[in-house]
Amino acid sequence: MTHKTVHAYAAPAPKAPLERTTITRRELGAHDILIDIKYAGICHSDLHTVRGEWGHETFPIVPGHEIAGVVSEVGSGVTRYAPGDRVGVGCFVDSCRECDNCRAGLQQHCTGELGSVGTYAATGRDGEFTQGGYSTHLVVDENYALSIPESLPLDAAAPLLCAGITLYSPLARWQAGPGKKVAVVGLGGLGHMGVKLAHAMGAEVTVLSQSLRKKDDGLRLGADHYHATSDPATFEALAGTFDLILNTVSADLDLDAYIGLLKTGGTLVQLGAPENKLAVSPFALVQGRKSFSGSMIGGLPETQEMLDFCAEHGIVSDIELIRADRINEAYERVLASDVRYRFVIDAATI
Ligand code: NAP
Ligand code: ZN
Ligand code: ZN
Repeated sequence: MTHKTVHAYAAPAPKAPLERTTITRRELGAHDILIDIKYAGICHSDLHTVRGEWGHETFPIVPGHEIAGVVSEVGSGVTRYAPGDRVGVGCFVDSCRECDNCRAGLQQHCTGELGSVGTYAATGRDGEFTQGGYSTHLVVDENYALSIPESLPLDAAAPLLCAGITLYSPLARWQAGPGKKVAVVGLGGLGHMGVKLAHAMGAEVTVLSQSLRKKDDGLRLGADHYHATSDPATFEALAGTFDLILNTVSADLDLDAYIGLLKTGGTLVQLGAPENKLAVSPFALVQGRKSFSGSMIGGLPETQEMLDFCAEHGIVSDIELIRADRINEAYERVLASDVRYRFVIDAATI
């Protein structure tokens, strides 16, 4: 097989609308698989990237790192997958494989020279610029694909590859479970997965949203409590309540106000990645020896563990399936926090 020309949707320049185009995918190497992409989720990180908020300068960019599809061809040395297998690809497609983090299964934090190679807008081992999942096909090393359990529908499973693992990893690390009070700030793509996962782990879950507009949804998704952060009374009523707060908000927040909601020794984990610096008062942390941490997606073993956990508990994303020619409209709605709760592109319409 030679380089394959495939259809895709790309942002031609920062802030420009996405448009239909063609890109090439590399020839299958010995350990590569060719994936027929069926669905690709729209993550807010795609928007930050194509809007130039994260400093990307090389365009065009084909976003998409919540990819679900079916293997259609395999390289000569592939052992993990066969044609017909259901697979997913998340936020990275390669890493050095030799550093301490790679060996520990934390490929997202690769410290080797190659680093963790983003699924799009990154430079791969072959020197080529990577292009993501808003496309019909993807070639990826078999070791960087995940197996999607049979019981999970591919469209609603796609967002698990970023939104799912990004919430699963900190919930697991900070041991969300029975007896723990967990708050999720922002009920968007990430946040709604956090509610489902924390509930399935047995924690007492609170949603902190800008308004009560999505309260019924939040409770249906598994939240025990739901509060509006636009109401100052929320911060008085909930002071000192939580063991763990996961901040999924894509915009700037007054973090001190949220740290005030932690119990003594509690942890606020930053997941949202707006472009501006974060500010935290030292007094907010030292009084009550609280922690402020961050977390970024998850490594390959934990991502597979998350998919298996979701299969066991019947968890997928709540999605709105769209045609590819509605991507730009979907972006506007994501910016307006008008998403319930993840847009997923039907790759058959690309
Ligand atoms: P999303 O679907 O747009 O959800 C973000 C939510 O934040 C919105 O639904 C809204 O919730 C809340 N929000 C938005 N603007 C706000 C504002 N001005 N003030 C207060 N709340 C606001 O986005 P997402 O895909 O979940 O991604 C969220 C963030 O996480 C993005 O910055 C993304 O880049 C980042 N991210 C990080 C990782 C990681 O590994 N750390 C992985 C993926 C994404 P309410 O309507 O409920 O208030
Ligand atoms: Zn993402
Ligand atoms: Zn590494």
